[in-house]
Amino acid sequence: MATRLSDYCTESEWSKIKHFADGKETPFLVVDLEIIKQKYTELMTCFPMAKVHYALKANPGAPVIETLRDMGSNFDIASIYELNKVLDAGVSADRISYGNTIKKAAHVRYAYERGVRLFATDSKADLQNIAENAPGSKIFVRILVEGGETAEWPLSRKFGCHPDMAIDLLMQAKLQGLIPYGISFHVGSQQRDIAVWDAALSKVKYMFDWMRLEESIELKMINMGGGFPANYISEVNPINVYAEEILRYLHDDYGDDLPEIILEPGRSLVGESGVLVSEVVLISRKSRTDLKRWVYVDVGLFQGLIETLGESIKYPLYCEKMDRNTSGEGSVVLAGPTCDSTDIMYEQVSYTLPHNLAVGDRIYWLTTGAYTNSYSSVEFNGFPPLKTYFLS
Ligand SMILES: *Cc1c(COP(=O)(O)O)cnc(C)c1O
Repeated sequence: MATRLSDYCTESEWSKIKHFADGKETPFLVVDLEIIKQKYTELMTCFPMAKVHYALKANPGAPVIETLRDMGSNFDIASIYELNKVLDAGVSADRISYGNTIKKAAHVRYAYERGVRLFATDSKADLQNIAENAPGSKIFVRILVEGGETAEWPLSRKFGCHPDMAIDLLMQAKLQGLIPYGISFHVGSQQRDIAVWDAALSKVKYMFDWMRLEESIELKMINMGGGFPANYISEVNPINVYAEEILRYLHDDYGDDLPEIILEPGRSLVGESGVLVSEVVLISRKSRTDLKRWVYVDVGLFQGLIETLGESIKYPLYCEKMDRNTSGEGSVVLAGPTCDSTDIMYEQVSYTLPHNLAVGDRIYWLTTGAYTNSYSSVEFNGFPPLKTYFLS
């Protein structure tokens, strides 16, 4: 598959990145903060009633946090280390939720002492932990939902509990002096099937009704998690189509009187802001008649491309020879530079690159603003973590 640059960025966005990248030693990630602002504005236009809690793990760079802070975003953190980053940026604790359902008692206490009052849970033991260390806080329970098959990076199974158990937990929360506040779910990252939100929201509606009628508890909030798409190779609907469908489900259930709605986007906010710039280190074939070239570049799974594991996320690739290409293109296997045989990005998915591709040519990995620098290893094989530059 050949990549048309114009499907992924405007000419001026590209020349900004290109101008910055020229002459710098690869590999590195360039993040254009302007694009994050655009994506945030677009999301708020699509979901004007929602509160955005940016999922920090997608890209925890200080300039990203500062940009979103200034746009008015809230933040969802998964650890006290992420919490510190957000607090250090001057974000007040009332704009922060602790969304991880797995947390040490000392960390719950730490977050509570710094003012965090909104916590996710999905188990009795964790709820007990919150009751003891963050008394009086608001609780939202994460439920298990479908969506694993149609998400390119599934997130289910490990998190969430059955709705019946979630109801028990919300009742228990009240008994323990906490505020049973709402319900959350995550349909899986890069979710291509919008209908899974419908299925998840009908579970939520059932729970809202049950809690009101059977327990006289009025839940206040629905946290619809992330899962909204970034623009990779596989085709997805634009965000406004997601919003139209999801808002229709919500209005069908609650009329005009919607509960508080929280969104926790990661990928869809920052994915398209990044271009990972790499260089071809080696091109080889495994036999005299091998049809595929092996193209080894100076980034791999350990420098930020871990989401290519299982060839899950298929990044658009671009090199300049694609534009003035007279040699045609041929199939390639793309692999990273380390001595680990897992370090192969694409072998089954058939990427093609120009026949005249040469060692030293640059390969640009588009839509790499999310889940790249945060996943990069410390120094596997001595390779340093992915360097990131932020352009404003
Ligand atoms: C990772 C994560 C997100 C972000 O998901 P995306 O699909 O990247 O938008 C949101 N909420 C929680 C709880 C997460 O763990």
